[in-house]
Amino acid sequence: QLGTVGFIGLGTMGREMALNLLKAGYRVCVYDVVEAAIADLVGHGAEPASSPADAGRDADIAIAMLPDTPEVEDVVYGKDGLLTSPPRGRLFVDMSTISPVASRRIHADLANVGVAAIDAPVSGGPVGAKNAALSIMAGGEADAFARAEPFFRAMGTTITHVGAAGAGQTVKLCNQLICGINIQAICEALALGRASGIDLEQLRNVLLGGSAASWMLDRLGPAMIAGDTAAGFRIDLMLKDLRLVQEQALSLSVPLPATALVTNQYVEARAHGEGTNGNQALFKVYDRMTNQ
Ligand code: NAD
Repeated sequence: QLGTVGFIGLGTMGREMALNLLKAGYRVCVYDVVEAAIADLVGHGAEPASSPADAGRDADIAIAMLPDTPEVEDVVYGKDGLLTSPPRGRLFVDMSTISPVASRRIHADLANVGVAAIDAPVSGGPVGAKNAALSIMAGGEADAFARAEPFFRAMGTTITHVGAAGAGQTVKLCNQLICGINIQAICEALALGRASGIDLEQLRNVLLGGSAASWMLDRLGPAMIAGDTAAGFRIDLMLKDLRLVQEQALSLSVPLPATALVTNQYVEARAHGEGTNGNQALFKVYDRMTNQ
């Protein structure tokens, strides 16, 4: 047995990441507020836990993959949270994308009870999670990173210690602003092509062969063109990330005009009920603007 992982948050990303830890030979104790998500993982060889503390009780490392800051705070500070009953290995890794400010506070509060923390958000989407091919950007102390790294190897291929507590979250926010702006750029190209009578499948293929190629055009392009809005990476989660980008930029007086513009498009998408749809649904905003 390689070691034991307490894994908390078994959604789109966490489910695949926990499965990859099982495949790599780790013992994995799983917790989620949705019982069916626990049962699903137990069907694949994981052990069920009844709370975050229970998942960490016997674990060398507790890993969280949760939607947003309040959920991570719940898992750390809440009743049966990790602060009241720290994981056996005294190591907590948060792979969710949350506020860097909150992340630094969690690092400090856990350090007070002798638990080392790493913030390690990921990029690569559900496919990257499934293929254990995520890019993992980690912030925290070097020795804690060294202890977490073997576990990261079961989930990702590009694993980088980017700095002190919270630095992983900041790097992830840089990643997200590029993703958001890129999705908008693709929407604009598709809107112009469509209005001009260009075949959009062919347009995408041509663009992928040249200097406009991108991960988003490759992975989200087909769903945008087909009008398939099923998530993936939800509009709501991207809006959460863009808000965090702007909070940090404002606090540092860094103007990010393109990010502000894209955020408004996402707000519009959510106002039209697309919050739980995938990011490709941003193109629906352009359907409305162009009356398509
Ligand atoms: P998700 O909503 O599909 O999964 C989150 C899981 O956490 C759910 O199963 C939910 O039931 C569970 N949960 C919520 N509150 C909980 C609590 N208090 N205790 C225990 N479990 C709880 O979200 P996701 O798409 O897997 O994303 C997770 C994180 O990863 C987010 O921060 C997101 O921004 C980030 N991320 C997502 C993607 C993507 O493509 N989906 C890619 C990279 C990063």
